[in-house]
Amino acid sequence: KKNLLEVKHLKTYYPVKGGFFRRTIGHVKAVDNVSFEIRKGETFGLVGESGCGKSTTGRTILRLLSPTEGQIIFDGNDITNLSGNKLREARKDFQMVFQDPYASLNPMQMVGDIIGEPIKNFYPGKQKKEIKEEVMDLIFRVGLPSDAYYKYAHEFSGGQRQRIGIARALALKPKLIVADEPVSALDVSVQSQVLNLLKELQDEFDLTYLFIAHDLSVVKHMSDRIGVMYLGNLIEVADKHSIYDEPLHPYTQALISAIPEPDPDRKKERIVLQGDVPSPSNPPSGCPFHTRCPMAKEACSEIKPKLKEVKPDHRVACILYD
Ligand code: SF4
Ligand code: MG
Repeated sequence: KKNLLEVKHLKTYYPVKGGFFRRTIGHVKAVDNVSFEIRKGETFGLVGESGCGKSTTGRTILRLLSPTEGQIIFDGNDITNLSGNKLREARKDFQMVFQDPYASLNPMQMVGDIIGEPIKNFYPGKQKKEIKEEVMDLIFRVGLPSDAYYKYAHEFSGGQRQRIGIARALALKPKLIVADEPVSALDVSVQSQVLNLLKELQDEFDLTYLFIAHDLSVVKHMSDRIGVMYLGNLIEVADKHSIYDEPLHPYTQALISAIPEPDPDRKKERIVLQGDVPSPSNPPSGCPFHTRCPMAKEACSEIKPKLKEVKPDHRVACILYD
């Protein structure tokens, strides 16, 4: 399958200000040399604990943030340094669904206007009637009631608000949607409805997803391939089955071992990690995971392992596989 997105050696650093003059005194390496690709039509899941850089990766890809270094190739075009009108134009093809539908929608705006706004902005010449037809179609496709058009976002439940957010993201018929924890703010009872809706829409609208989440069972349900992040680094990438059935990186192994196993015959040993995730403004030398890794050797604090393919389509960054 063709790649829709290629991310090459992406770095996104935030400056740390300090002292009397608030000068830059260091950097938080939120995303530190991350490379992966997303194939057309697939869902690529990005997982890791909060603060590992997965949201920053998603936002940099959408160019909501500017990368410090590296390259972002979208559908064959280098979008790394686009700005102004060129960036605006490119943005039609990639949209975001946010974590918190409460915060990302204006409660004082009519739902029809919320969903139609991107169409109005991008196609100022378009007839009102035509826009309304498109919006009504989107309202229908995401499973909102047909009278939603004239209502306000605050009149809807969390799950329905996320449907509004999804309809708005679809308004310009994008190719890629970055969904950043799209159900983690919702009641458990509606989570699977929204996830299933995203799956249905993927087929209907020919979408490719970057699906960001910390919940491994949600990511398993949604993804074709998965990337695992730790402290700004991508430490393992493989198809879903390899990640869950034969994780190679000690960190991935610990994450997988913590998923509750309903089948008692398949009970596995839970790997409990010691210590906390180090601060991304002062990351450890060598392998970023060495301070907590149960398999760490002396060399691990000196050498930073590169992500490399150790089996077909399975990449890992760990010296155990050198
Ligand atoms: Fe653990 Fe060393 Fe592998 Fe890092 S490189 S994951 S510290 S064994
Ligand atoms: Mg996040």
